[in-house]
Amino acid sequence: MFDHGFCLMFSPLVNETLKMLQANLKFPSLLHYFCRNYIYMAHFHKLAIKEINKVTEQSVTISFDVPDTLKDTFTFNAGQYITLKAVINGNEIRRDYSICSSPKSGALKVAVKEVADGRFSKYANKELKTGDVLEVSGPNGRFIFEPDNTKSRTIIAFAAGSGITPIMSIVKTVLEEELNSKLILVYGNKTPHDTIFYNELLALQVKHQNRFNIQWVFSRSDEANALFGRIERSTVNYIIKNKHKDLSVDTFYLCGPEAMINSISEVLIENGVKKDAILFELFTVSTPEAQIHYLKGIPKLLLRLMRRKLPSKCLRSKPYWKPL
Ligand SMILES: Cc1cc2nc3c(=O)[nH]c(=O)nc-3n(C[C@H](O)[C@H](O)[C@H](O)COP(=O)(O)OP(=O)(O)OC[C@H]3O[C@@H](n4cnc5c(N)ncnc54)[C@H](O)[C@@H]3O)c2cc1C
Repeated sequence: MFDHGFCLMFSPLVNETLKMLQANLKFPSLLHYFCRNYIYMAHFHKLAIKEINKVTEQSVTISFDVPDTLKDTFTFNAGQYITLKAVINGNEIRRDYSICSSPKSGALKVAVKEVADGRFSKYANKELKTGDVLEVSGPNGRFIFEPDNTKSRTIIAFAAGSGITPIMSIVKTVLEEELNSKLILVYGNKTPHDTIFYNELLALQVKHQNRFNIQWVFSRSDEANALFGRIERSTVNYIIKNKHKDLSVDTFYLCGPEAMINSISEVLIENGVKKDAILFELFTVSTPEAQIHYLKGIPKLLLRLMRRKLPSKCLRSKPYWKPL
């Protein structure tokens, strides 16, 4: 909609407005998506795919070749995401993908899980190959972990399905760069077979057994040492009030479906966890109907904002603790 010069000039203003709106609206990720794609156009760079690997039946990891001239542009914090742009069947499609490699590794890698009828995720899983070139925006997002080796922290991360991607970067960063800190990962999937990074996580747990513990949760497979079902209220209660009750946790990182994030956050807050100790990344809103309903409401909402009257139904009943 606007060219890059315009965006650079107005980006601080756009970002501040975004932050204010995100902190008060019901679906922050949708507003973020709308603004990034239609108001504030990200600056894209052409990057070749260095390696693409099938990691489960429904997901691939994609590593990019970043030339030396773009190394600074693609410097990232653990937990951030990039936006990929491609023309698929004549339509330009942009999608956000969290970086799953650690900043220290020097690699720029994402994992894409194919969703039913998903345009980009299907293209990534079925058609992309090594050497193909995609347009990629620089890293973004405030769901981050910044290592500090003088600190001795305890972190608990909850992830489900492809929600492991930013958490994987955080796990590696804690283990590699904050040597006195501990991390507990609660990770939900259907079966071990369709769990992204299953073997890699097992290997990390063996290597760092005093600092890294994984609680597997499987909904379609009864496994030894794993919980059966989905990550829900009882899982959170079990982790914080039973299995790890003696730990004093500094930060909780949550990434997965909206319903999971909401219920985990509720239980944590009921148990006295401060809101600013809970960080979350949302990949989608819960239902397509909710997305359509919300997108239809955006022009009306902007109009009302301009008149300085925010409709009460668009305000969150309680403020979110960390805008995305
Ligand atoms: C900050 C951020 C980081 C993300 N990181 C990752 C990541 O690391 N890995 C990853 O695989 N995805 C990630 N996503 C989701 C990703 O951006 C796309 O939304 C997803 O790949 C689907 O895109 P698509 O074009 O294939 O589907 P679309 O063509 O957009 O949608 C097709 C259908 O699938 C539904 N749908 C869309 N997304 C999902 C979903 N995630 N789960 C279930 N149903 C869905 C839609 O409602 C629609 O009905 C992230 C999203 C955000 C906002």
